Amino acid sequence: MTSLVGHLINGKIVTDADKTQDVFNPSSGEVSKQVALANRATVNEAIAAAEKAFISWRNTPAMKRARVMFKFKDLLEQHSTKICDLIGQEHGKIAHDAAGELQRGIENVEYACCAPELLKGEHSKNVAPGIDSWSEMQPLGVVAGITPFNFPAMVPLWMYPMAIVCGNCFVLKPSERDPSSTLFIAQLLKEAGLPDGVMNVVNGDKEAVDALLFDDRVKAVSFVGSTPIAEYIYSTSTKNGKRCQALGGAKNHAIVMPDADVENAVAQLLGAAFGSSGERCMALSVAVAVGDEVADLLVQKLSKSMKNLKFGAYTDSTNDFGPVITKQHQQSVINHISSAEKQGANIVVDGRDAIVSGYENGFYVGGTLIDKVTPQMDSYKAEIFGPVLQIVRVATMKDAMSLIDNHEYGNGTCIFTRDGEAARYFSDHIKVGMVGVNIPLPVPVAYHSFGGWKRSLFGDLHAYGPDSIRFYTKRKTITQRWPSTGVREGVQFSMPTLS
Ligand code: NAD
Repeated sequence: MTSLVGHLINGKIVTDADKTQDVFNPSSGEVSKQVALANRATVNEAIAAAEKAFISWRNTPAMKRARVMFKFKDLLEQHSTKICDLIGQEHGKIAHDAAGELQRGIENVEYACCAPELLKGEHSKNVAPGIDSWSEMQPLGVVAGITPFNFPAMVPLWMYPMAIVCGNCFVLKPSERDPSSTLFIAQLLKEAGLPDGVMNVVNGDKEAVDALLFDDRVKAVSFVGSTPIAEYIYSTSTKNGKRCQALGGAKNHAIVMPDADVENAVAQLLGAAFGSSGERCMALSVAVAVGDEVADLLVQKLSKSMKNLKFGAYTDSTNDFGPVITKQHQQSVINHISSAEKQGANIVVDGRDAIVSGYENGFYVGGTLIDKVTPQMDSYKAEIFGPVLQIVRVATMKDAMSLIDNHEYGNGTCIFTRDGEAARYFSDHIKVGMVGVNIPLPVPVAYHSFGGWKRSLFGDLHAYGPDSIRFYTKRKTITQRWPSTGVREGVQFSMPTLS
């Protein structure tokens, strides 16, 4: 009998479910749990709890809201081993990688602790004689988050700490594929002092998502996931009058210039392509080699280093990466490799037949290196989201940049070079939202904001950091006069001005 992962509604775990789904341990391939899939009525309950809690939460002083986040940060640190283990069980991430994900999430909680400073607003005295004016940031009400499987701790933490310190109440719909760490973390908020109903979690599939998107009480939706779903969430939310930010998929290219320190580029590429089995929206999945000389050197050094890559079960912390998320996804990654081969690319290191002794049914794909990939190939166009690094050879930096600019995604990119002028030109002109110069995973720190360009982000505001204050609040500007007793202004029909 496997245990059931339920929902968190109004401070209580709810496990009633007419629909459930298997949760796998991808390292072993076994079903480890069931997750309850919320129907419309359950989602309604969560929204109603959030709406009720909003009445007093919106008036709770920002300093008190921030104090909850200070305590929450401590609890996340105290429970980090358990959280990383839950991530490993259901995602397959090795403990060192899960710890990195959690730490990045905690940094968003730290940023949320600055709420009193961030929400101060703007004040102007005497905008006209005796008239003062100020702008304040008011919470929206009930806001929702819908998150992907690949960062079950970090991506939700991009959203709700900031939404909550801004005075909103939250309904989170995490990935149904690895729900346990997300639910466990949300429960810590109660221990941190958060009133019931401010934070709610509903597990579920499209039915639960649609219940959020079509409910008038939900004022804003933050989404992170694949591009087709991001587009659906954005168009449906905005059609229904909601504010929406929907972050989608990626295909991140690294340019390796002829003058690059190739040893360093190889080391950086290995981590950024194969870490987390390539299941990161900032993974570097394409190396664009400028010139055949650097391409040959790259292929030779990468294939040599890849012999030392160690993958396997999440329980062995000496592994570099673990399995992919599901059997279907394992097959999809393998199909992409085979398609590249059929379309004429050269499979230099082949991870298709990966077997891990003792875990023969786990969802493994070994590190794969594919050379001589062209932009016409299907494997180049698609987001493979697996431990696969493709090499595209071009003649010039200009060719490399137009390749990147012409791809449908624009999440992250990087240039490896020793030439400052080239790096500056690249970061200034490339049509991508997050750029690294000799930095393979340029994921912005918590006090900047995260977001791609083109079909990697639908909406104007990026995730977390300063943009999240703008996303989770609406501005109100108040202009005020307190006339002295007995003083009366005459009637004025013209537009009021200072002159
Ligand atoms: P996904 O799009 O399949 O799922 C994301 C969320 O949407 C989940 O909560 C899921 O339950 C829900 N969902 C799935 N199908 C739906 C449907 N038809 N209608 C409504 N909701 C639906 O993504 P995933 O496989 O969980 O995550 C991997 C994807 O997320 C990759 O494309 C990756 O690049 C992307 N991602 C992007 C970022 C970013 O910041 N841009 C960060 C992490 C992951």
